[in-house]
Amino acid sequence: MVKNKIKIGVIGIQGDVSEHVIMMQKTLKETNTPGEVFIVKTKENIDEIDALILPGGESTTISKILNKSGLYTRIQKRIKENNLPTMGTCAGCVLLAKKLTDTYRDVTLLEAMDIQVTRNAFGRQKESFEKNLRIDGLHSMFNAVFIRAPVIEKTWGNCKPLAKIDKKIVMARQGNLLALSFHPELTRDTRIHKYFLEMII
Ligand code: GLN
Repeated sequence: MVKNKIKIGVIGIQGDVSEHVIMMQKTLKETNTPGEVFIVKTKENIDEIDALILPGGESTTISKILNKSGLYTRIQKRIKENNLPTMGTCAGCVLLAKKLTDTYRDVTLLEAMDIQVTRNAFGRQKESFEKNLRIDGLHSMFNAVFIRAPVIEKTWGNCKPLAKIDKKIVMARQGNLLALSFHPELTRDTRIHKYFLEMII
């Protein structure tokens, strides 16, 4: 349970940062939840937040800068010790994983979720697509945007798949952690951000 005004941080290194900020602000407004959303740039910011969003972008780049800036260990610590609610979309989903299907020495994982992820599993940029998804916990279909998206090959432990395309898992939850291979911040539909908000409050 969080204090009267919640603070949600969006990692502001690269990728669709402002889209997440705008979407989360809209979500707070629509649900009448007192709170603020801000861009996280320093490791000190990590101690101030009640929840974290890892946006899409390029996981190699984001991971490199997270490492250099000391943000990585701080995030890992808060997830482990304080159960910090965290949502990772696309590249963010890659970073939350405990395992990658291929070994990329240029990506350091947060190793937070019991998931194995394959990067760029649907092909290159031009193979980007939209798809109506059935998602556990949502009453109707969600129009999901996939851009060089990863796939969650498998989950184990307490991690549960929430959405699939054929047999490919594209959304999963483990306690306070949420991983999505698609981009809910690129739509006008706030239901995924609301789902995340309910995990925080
Ligand atoms: N393919 C990218 C990666 O592996 C993710 C793409 C995205 O976030 N839209 O990091």
